[in-house]
Amino acid sequence: MSSKIFKIGMQEFESCGKDIINLLSLQHEMEIVLQNAELYMLGTTSDIDLSKFPYVKVFKGEIPEEEIFDVIVCIGGILPKQENRIRELRRKSVKLLALGTCSVWGCRPTIALSAFNEEEQNQINGEMEENSPDYNQEIGSITRKTIGDIVKVDYKIPGCPIDEFSFISFLMDIVDGKLPRIQDAPVCYECKLNGNECIFMEKGIVCLGPITQCGCGARCITIGEIDSGLKTVCTGCYGPLADANLDEWYKMILRYGKSVENIYKFFVAR
Ligand code: SF4
Ligand code: SF4
Repeated sequence: MSSKIFKIGMQEFESCGKDIINLLSLQHEMEIVLQNAELYMLGTTSDIDLSKFPYVKVFKGEIPEEEIFDVIVCIGGILPKQENRIRELRRKSVKLLALGTCSVWGCRPTIALSAFNEEEQNQINGEMEENSPDYNQEIGSITRKTIGDIVKVDYKIPGCPIDEFSFISFLMDIVDGKLPRIQDAPVCYECKLNGNECIFMEKGIVCLGPITQCGCGARCITIGEIDSGLKTVCTGCYGPLADANLDEWYKMILRYGKSVENIYKFFVAR
C-alpha cells in the first residue's frame, strides 16, 4: 500500500469569511479526515487567526513547481487581480473544487444583477454610486467572476452558507479514493424526505425548491434560515438545478396567479 499522504489545499478568495470559519471549526470531523491527509491553507482574504486551528498547515506565497495537491478547494468569487492565482491553483491541483455559492455562481448580488439588462444595470450602478459610501467595495463584489469562468472545475458544491457536512462527506470520499457523491436533484426531493408540508401547494407561497439544486437538506423549509432560524421558503441559494424545466415551472406559477418575472429572469440569465 502506498504511504503517500493525500494533500488538500484550500484558498479563500472574495467571500464573507463565514464559510471558511465554519469549515475549520469542525475540529472532530476534520481530524477524522486528516488521519489520512494533510490540509494546507494556501491563502485567505479573511482576517482569520489560523493558529486557532492546529490541524491546518499554512503554505505561504507561490507554490513550487514540483508541488501538486490532490485536491484544491476554492472558496469565494474572483476579482480581476486574482485570476492568475486561480490559474496557478488549477495547474497545481489534480482536482479542483469550487465551494460555496460565490465560487460556483458569483454571489447573490451578481446573480440578482444578471436579471437586468444593460440599461437597468447602469441605473442600478448609478444609484449605488449615489447612495452607498462603500460603492467601490460593493461594485467589486458584484463584478467578480466564478471559478468556472476562468478555469475548468471538477466539482461544485454551492450553498450560502455552505452545508459543512456535505463538504466533509466530499473530503472523506475523495481521500478514500471514491467518486464524491454530489447530489443532483431539486430541493423538493430533500423537502419531501424531511416530511415537510409543501408551502407552495398548501399556502400558495412561491418557493424555488422545484428548480433549485438540493444538498442543503431543504434547510430553510425544514429548520429555518441559518441567521434568523425562521422557517421560510427556498430562495435558490444553491443555484438552478442543471436540468430544471424553467418554462414549465414558470407556467405553473402563472396558473396559480403569481407573477415571478424577476425570479424567472434571474434563472434564465444564468
Ligand atoms: S415547500 Fe418548496 S421545496 Fe418543499 S416541496 Fe414545496 S416547493 Fe418543494
Ligand atoms: S432551502 Fe433553498 S435557500 Fe435555503 S439553503 Fe437550501 S437551497 Fe438555499
